[in-house]
Amino acid sequence: MTGTRVLVLNSGSSSVKYQLLDMRDGSRPAVGLVERIGESGSRLQHSPAHGESRERNGSVPDHDAALKAMAAELDRDGLGLDSPELAAIGHRVVHGGLRFTEPTVVDDAVLAEIERLIPVAPLHNPANLTGIRTARALRPDLPQVAVFDTAFHTTMPESAARYAIDVETADAHRIRRYGFHGTSHAYVSRETARLLGRAPEDVNVIVLHLGNGASASAVRGGRCVDTSMGLTPLEGLVMGTRSGDTDPAVIFHLMRVGGMSADEIDTLLNKRSGLIGLCGDNDMREIRRRVDAGDERAALAFDIYIHRLKKYIGAYYAVLGRVDAVAFTAGVGENSAPVREAALAGLEGLGLAVDGGLNAVRGDGARLISPADARVAVAVVPTDEEMEIATQTYALVKDSGNLT
Ligand code: AMP
Repeated sequence: MTGTRVLVLNSGSSSVKYQLLDMRDGSRPAVGLVERIGESGSRLQHSPAHGESRERNGSVPDHDAALKAMAAELDRDGLGLDSPELAAIGHRVVHGGLRFTEPTVVDDAVLAEIERLIPVAPLHNPANLTGIRTARALRPDLPQVAVFDTAFHTTMPESAARYAIDVETADAHRIRRYGFHGTSHAYVSRETARLLGRAPEDVNVIVLHLGNGASASAVRGGRCVDTSMGLTPLEGLVMGTRSGDTDPAVIFHLMRVGGMSADEIDTLLNKRSGLIGLCGDNDMREIRRRVDAGDERAALAFDIYIHRLKKYIGAYYAVLGRVDAVAFTAGVGENSAPVREAALAGLEGLGLAVDGGLNAVRGDGARLISPADARVAVAVVPTDEEMEIATQTYALVKDSGNLT
């Protein structure tokens, strides 16, 4: 008997998100979240497909306790980790460097390599590693697969991936553009081709992943040729709390003239910049409400956000030469009609236009929002990183005979 279920784990520093997916029919028997791990007021939320959602409050001191609490809840629904239905556990790992271009079955050597990448992903890889190690201890016999946020971008040519800094220095410190949100860009570019009724190999897409973190990518025939995040997720678009692109000299200036330390500037640019730094809010709903009420700071923040987005759309149009579709995804991209409208306003000369009526309609699935006769399709494509991780994980364990 072979299992068809995949448990997807996304382990952050103080949270674990989990989804159990059944690859037979794409259903989700259970989803949940453990938050505030190692802090006061830890909380577990668990939602089985058949049954009431449950919430537990109480101490969850570490990831081991978090995964055991998750396992106990799954057990109560008859979906426990020892179920023969479970084929593998798929882990989101943020940084795979240049070494991991594909999803990879975890062994000791893979764990060591993910650990070696901690200097380029100090915030994410340690938590991802802890999640994998803990899950492995709970089910040592089950294949554990690492799916990397950077993998989809490893097809970028050197011209896009290299910074124009001294080559020896860059290489010594593994400094280059890696890109992130790769599972989302992979999923959304493929789903966009499907929406157009064409093969991914035949379609060029600009994917705009606009969530609290935000990134754009240029995808030619299913392969990423450029993306806006770089060595870290700080580069590129204006985000909820990150600045995106700045002159690197801003950092020296803040050190020399502002008297700030590297850590303080790191916090400033990652946590106190972007929309929240510009207007005090990082939720696009609230920003739009303020703009509509005549708030000038919110209006300026919105304009800066849109200006940057437009620059990337133009840049990736030029990188691709021919664009078949622009796809909006993630929290802002899927839900904010004003952002989609403003980002493409005035780009009719490039064949880009949004139909006001279609753009205003809310919907759950992938849909076109461009006029019927538009040269370039504009789409809203809900992202599904868990499904992508589960699909990649299942394909790997099935093909490699790793299935239990
Ligand atoms: P994500 O990181 O993909 O979960 O996106 C989170 C962000 O999406 C939030 O910070 C909001 O700015 C934005 N968002 C969520 N729902 C809406 C909505 N209905 N309208 C506009 N923005 C939204």
